[in-house]
Amino acid sequence: MYKLASKEGAGATVVRVGSASFGDGSFTMIAGPCAIESRAQIELTAKFVASAGAAMVRGGAYKPRTSPYAFQGLGEEGVKLIAAACQGAGLPAVVEALAETQLLVLDWYVDMIQIGARNMQNFTLLQAVARTGKPVLLKRAPFATLDEVLYAAEYILLEGNPNVVLCERGVRGFDPQTRNLFDLGGALRLKELTHLPVIADPSHATGRASLIEPLVLAAAAAGLDGAIVEVHPEPPTALSDAAQALDFDAFAQLMRKLEALRGSLESKPRLAACK
Ligand code: PEP
Ligand code: MN
Repeated sequence: MYKLASKEGAGATVVRVGSASFGDGSFTMIAGPCAIESRAQIELTAKFVASAGAAMVRGGAYKPRTSPYAFQGLGEEGVKLIAAACQGAGLPAVVEALAETQLLVLDWYVDMIQIGARNMQNFTLLQAVARTGKPVLLKRAPFATLDEVLYAAEYILLEGNPNVVLCERGVRGFDPQTRNLFDLGGALRLKELTHLPVIADPSHATGRASLIEPLVLAAAAAGLDGAIVEVHPEPPTALSDAAQALDFDAFAQLMRKLEALRGSLESKPRLAACK
């Protein structure tokens, strides 16, 4: 049994990452490009998403690409670029680790380390990332049951690192119309099983920019703890995941709608009496 990740007997865990927090009843937005591509790209994006209300910036420096011929990320240079951009924007950064050899650099420069879907059951990597002491964003693998997600989290918690945020990013479905199958019910069931915060990643779940806004709103209405979305200054030119990137206007609109939704949820309007 996943003793440490289990909700039994535990209140909700709040994970703090610099000025951002997950699990305190707020809905925390992480936004940024799939991959860090240049100083200008990450600086512009970090500044914009900060001004629109994001709490954290994302950006990949080591990219897990299906094809070895695809853009693999800027590596250490990219990590330094996002760290500088985030310092300028005043927001914490999250970057994915693919291997233990990258942890020293990530631990030094970023505020949270992501374990991506492909590495959810890379147990030695989970233990090593836990030992950095940095908060961990742990993504569900596309083939993983919820119990397997919680056992993966347990590897991190067992190393003495309590700061784990879980992320639903879609499981492998049967219909290529969406990249994966966004499992909102599974994410809600996870919240019944664990005290850890759970956020949504509709970008990788659907692969389509048009579906990001409604799914973030659905995740917020359903009571998840936040969302991570891909935003790019010029989506058609993105070096990875171009089809799922929001442009700045779309992200600003999403944040406005999210704020309106949160306001309406907080005011808990009574249903009109049936006539
Ligand atoms: C990512 O967030 O950049 C990523 C590769 O996501 P996932 O691991 O969910 O595919
Ligand atoms: Mn991506």
